[in-house]
Amino acid sequence: MSINDNISNALVQNWEDKVILVVEDVDTNKIFFDAALRKTKAKILWAKDGQEAVDMFQENTVDLVLMDLQLPIMDGYTATRKIKEINKDIPIIAQTAHVMSGEREKCLEAGCDDYLAKPIRLQFLMDTLSKFLNK
Ligand SMILES: [Mg+2]
Repeated sequence: MSINDNISNALVQNWEDKVILVVEDVDTNKIFFDAALRKTKAKILWAKDGQEAVDMFQENTVDLVLMDLQLPIMDGYTATRKIKEINKDIPIIAQTAHVMSGEREKCLEAGCDDYLAKPIRLQFLMDTLSKFLNK
């Protein structure tokens, strides 16, 4: 298999039986996730703040959470803690524009399983999601 085959395979995952909760308050970022994930056929649930994320998690069966940390009403750290209280085994991948030192640790301490720095590269997003969804 060539390198190109590997790349295209990685970009065309089939997650039609998966539900991903995307927590994101900025429309341009939503457009990126929508474009990136549409091809995977995963069911996408959208939450625009931390409280809505917790509420939606309680009301739906979710396989993975993609959590922005900078959110209105309730931030992503608090929402992560609350979701992990409901189900400690749910994978939560944080995404943030802030790459301050110590943020990764703060994020893992809140219970996040992994971390993506914005701007998120498509290949890196798919690789990270694959680690948790292709088990
Ligand atoms: Mg945000």
